[in-house]
Amino acid sequence: MFKVNDIRKDFPILSRKVNGKSLVYFDNAATSQTPQQVIDVIVDYYSNYNANIHRGVHTLSQEATDLYEQARQKVQTHFNAKFSHEIILTSGTTHSINLVANGFSSLLKKGDEVIVSALEHHSNIVPWQMLCERTGAILKVIPMNQDGELVMDDYDKLLTKNTKLVFVNHISNALGTINPIEYIIEKAHKVGAAVLIDGAQSCPHIKPDVQKLDVDFYVVSAHKMCGPTGVGMLYGKEDWLNKLPPYQGGGEMIAEVTFEKTTYANLPHKFEAGTPNICGGIAFGAAIDYMNSVGFNNIAKYEHELLDYATEKLLAIEGLKIFGTSKNKTSVISFNLNGIHPYDVGTILDKLGIAVRTGHHCAQPIMDFYNIPGTIRASFSFYNTKAEIDALVEGVKKAKMMLS
Ligand SMILES: *Cc1c(COP(=O)(O)O)cnc(C)c1O
Repeated sequence: MFKVNDIRKDFPILSRKVNGKSLVYFDNAATSQTPQQVIDVIVDYYSNYNANIHRGVHTLSQEATDLYEQARQKVQTHFNAKFSHEIILTSGTTHSINLVANGFSSLLKKGDEVIVSALEHHSNIVPWQMLCERTGAILKVIPMNQDGELVMDDYDKLLTKNTKLVFVNHISNALGTINPIEYIIEKAHKVGAAVLIDGAQSCPHIKPDVQKLDVDFYVVSAHKMCGPTGVGMLYGKEDWLNKLPPYQGGGEMIAEVTFEKTTYANLPHKFEAGTPNICGGIAFGAAIDYMNSVGFNNIAKYEHELLDYATEKLLAIEGLKIFGTSKNKTSVISFNLNGIHPYDVGTILDKLGIAVRTGHHCAQPIMDFYNIPGTIRASFSFYNTKAEIDALVEGVKKAKMMLS
């Protein structure tokens, strides 16, 4: 039995009131909440061993360095990378994608092709458009269908001998669709293209194995999986990371500097210029420990129960339409009420203490596909309950009454 009430005790924020009502937090796809176990690590860091890493001979610096490098190993183990130097600690998914996109500037030439999907977050579109502008490479798009799934027959046709890179999210933040990334990776490799998977939405729900996936790059943000903001991971296969030039210049990333020539540090430091988010990195490791103590199988099973329960209850409301109806999806429900702007519903829900996201969810092409301005998105985590879903359903009914 999954003891959700015990788990909820780990999250101090869940007991706060919003507008006089108990908080119902259903904006987990934007950022997850932080358990006490991770908060404790952050407080401990600043209380006991705050120091710059990799530099000092003094005790605090060594302690901080050890903990930071242990965190890197936790990330490595969790995602099953072959080497810890294949884990670059970044400020998050956006930073990781920009790092790779910038590196490919020197590897692509005019007429090369890169492939994105119709289901992407702007973070996984814009850096590549910038790359294409710099290099003259051509951006192609895997289309989606009405259920919010990628059309794999069309993907097959997009791949050519000129395809150099494919970048797709593992799970769509706007619709919750789980994409067939195993197939995408295998097909891309057949034409010699590299694949980057945006795992920002998968990391809170499943435990990806980068070696089994045989993926070239995998990126996540800690704050989507119970960690702090401003820290995340770029996993890259050793060969690829060696091929990519450094992204930023500065301290930490060099071997030797003279005014004539600078040589770069080995992996992972080549990509970690400047003082990193040391506390954040250590807390990222603690978040991974926490999520594993809950258990990803338990999380997936329980969240599916919540998804099925909420889908059924919401669909019973007349005039409510769900966008993203793939059978293969996580606990994200994007919906609209007939003739009512999502923002107005979101505002009324907030008055009731219910936090949802409204708008385009940084995925405007998806909204354009459905020809809507945006949706109301309720995204559930393992610390949510069916009683909270009941409160959402009542809130949506109330909003419908007030707005129609
Ligand atoms: C949240 C998210 C991002 C961006 O993550 P940041 O932490 O803001 O860099 C990118 N892609 C997807 C699918 C996301 O859900």
